[in-house]
Amino acid sequence: MSTATDLSRLHYADIWPPLFTTESYSSYNQFQGIYRGKQYHEPDFAEVLQRAQEYGCQKIILTTTTLARAHENLKIVQQYPDICTMTLGVHPYHAAEIYQTDGKTYLDALRALCNELLAHSPSPLVAFGEIRLDYAYLQRSDKETQQRAFRDQLDIAVGMQLPLFLHVRDSCADVVEIITSYLSRLPRGGLVHSFAGTKDEMLQLVALGLGISGNGVSFRTEEQLEMVKRIPLDRLQLETGAPWCEIVEDERIAPFLARARPLPPTRKHGKFIRGQMVKGRNESCRWRGWRWLWRV
Ligand SMILES: [Zn+2]
Repeated sequence: MSTATDLSRLHYADIWPPLFTTESYSSYNQFQGIYRGKQYHEPDFAEVLQRAQEYGCQKIILTTTTLARAHENLKIVQQYPDICTMTLGVHPYHAAEIYQTDGKTYLDALRALCNELLAHSPSPLVAFGEIRLDYAYLQRSDKETQQRAFRDQLDIAVGMQLPLFLHVRDSCADVVEIITSYLSRLPRGGLVHSFAGTKDEMLQLVALGLGISGNGVSFRTEEQLEMVKRIPLDRLQLETGAPWCEIVEDERIAPFLARARPLPPTRKHGKFIRGQMVKGRNESCRWRGWRWLWRV
């Protein structure tokens, strides 16, 4: 993306973490005005989506982590079909749930929902995931179970011919080993999102043809900053990870963000005013400043 002409061709679709509409402590709650279980302001989810669009964010991809949560995401997508889309897949924290019975039942249901969503035109389903290996969190699903779920779901993704939505945490070598044999059968490739690993890991993933996106977690250490600078522009994607994963606007970063179109004022959640942003709650409209930071 080296010229001004190229920039005009950029399209932006943001990625949000799971919204978990049925849980008491959830990211979705923040858009309902609820923080730590207490209602501070009226819901402003629709305004947040509208603001995203006003700032050029055309789509928001809601991340799915389990079958049950896929149905929660689907309800939101059906309510806001012009902007919201979703992924479908089982996150490694929930990998053990797949095999609580025979495994086949859950995977068949996942495949069936995938087919059902893909039958719609346009389909709300834009990628398969979030699938990954997460060796930093083995309390709910051990490595063996995570790897089994990863392979079983890669098989489904090949059948559906969807791009992959991946996350790699403390597991790059195993992800690369497992995924390599699948990628030739997945011509639409995939994205490793929220990337916060090393430069060498990033380059290994890029060599497989995968895209890389980051958010606030990618800018925390000098080593990560060095990694971010080396992401090839034709593989780089952006995401805010709203409502979490804000980029801390320190003195190194603020000058880049200052180049972007100004954002509405920000106030604490207890002093909410409709049409303004909430301090500490990330939003997709911030992507325009982050674009400068990521050099595109
Ligand atoms: Zn993730």
